[in-house]
Amino acid sequence: MTGPPEERDVVIVGGGAAGFTAAIYLGRAALQPLLLEGLVTGGQAAMAGIVENFPGFPDGIAGPDLGAAMEAQARKWGTEIRAAFVDRLEAGRGAHLLYTAQQVIRARAVVIATGASHRRLGVPGEQELSGRGVSYCATCDGPLYRDRRVVVVGGGDAAVEEALYLARLASQVTVIHRRGQLRAVQILQQRAFAEKKISFVWDSLVTRILGSEEVSGVRISNVRTREEGELPTEGVFVYIGTTPNTRFLPAEVATDEGGFIKTDLLMRTSVAGIFAAGDVRFASVRQLIAAAGDGAIAADSATKYLQNA
Ligand code: NAP
Repeated sequence: MTGPPEERDVVIVGGGAAGFTAAIYLGRAALQPLLLEGLVTGGQAAMAGIVENFPGFPDGIAGPDLGAAMEAQARKWGTEIRAAFVDRLEAGRGAHLLYTAQQVIRARAVVIATGASHRRLGVPGEQELSGRGVSYCATCDGPLYRDRRVVVVGGGDAAVEEALYLARLASQVTVIHRRGQLRAVQILQQRAFAEKKISFVWDSLVTRILGSEEVSGVRISNVRTREEGELPTEGVFVYIGTTPNTRFLPAEVATDEGGFIKTDLLMRTSVAGIFAAGDVRFASVRQLIAAAGDGAIAADSATKYLQNA
């Protein structure tokens, strides 16, 4: 990398609901934001089959459609969108440096909206068979399991929502949950219990994913009885929560013990000029609408910061 850094007033890192909303607001404030995004436009929204709880869409909206509409709206208001991963953020006084593989960008204000990724189980076989039967995205990989058996691990909204999606394709869906009760919202529980293709294995942990070239089954352990067993399956979908995408951040940006970025109510982080919004932020309820709300607040704070700096 040679030459001076590219100079920007404000850079948004992350192209999900939080990042695009921040972009729309910053664009309307005539700040010509630059938004750096990873591989998927729309963040977690784009990975969802159908989004039923975003206000304004009484019949729901397909996740990828919502992601694409947010992106189009951000562009309309003057956001430049660039595909680039930020490897490192260096906090400075008055401006911050963002390092990507291609370039260095110097930004007076930064909005971090990098979201969170699906947590891994951390059991033998998971990494080796990732992409060969182990998946973290039912909407991406579900069609590969048409008329085949799959397992979903977890008991939250994500696990149950994706189990319902997979039930439309797979011949059989087994939800393996570590407790005897789901955490998911009632409406999803009711739908899952009513779906004939979905069955549940309660109080159980997946301790190993089996298979050599491809997944052939899972080893499970009952946390109450300590009984061990094996369940044959062709696919394992893991939905056991999320971890924040914050690896590129400097130590000056304070996080909680889980690595989520601490902010005040105005989305200001511990570093002046650096703001955080959405799932990457601590205490986020991890809903699209909340991420969008965070993005609007972060943009407003960044605008005021730039005006006063
Ligand atoms: P979550 O709500 O944190 O649920 C994670 C689930 O995985 C829990 O059932 C948990 O068990 C289980 N779990 C955690 N660690 C585990 C481990 N090591 N081994 C086995 N099981 C483990 O996560 P999520 O479902 O990904 O949802 C994250 C957030 O996104 C939530 O706020 C959720 O509401 C939101 N979300 C919303 C929607 C929607 O509104 N439609 C869709 C997807 C996600 P316990 O129950 O025992 O803790």
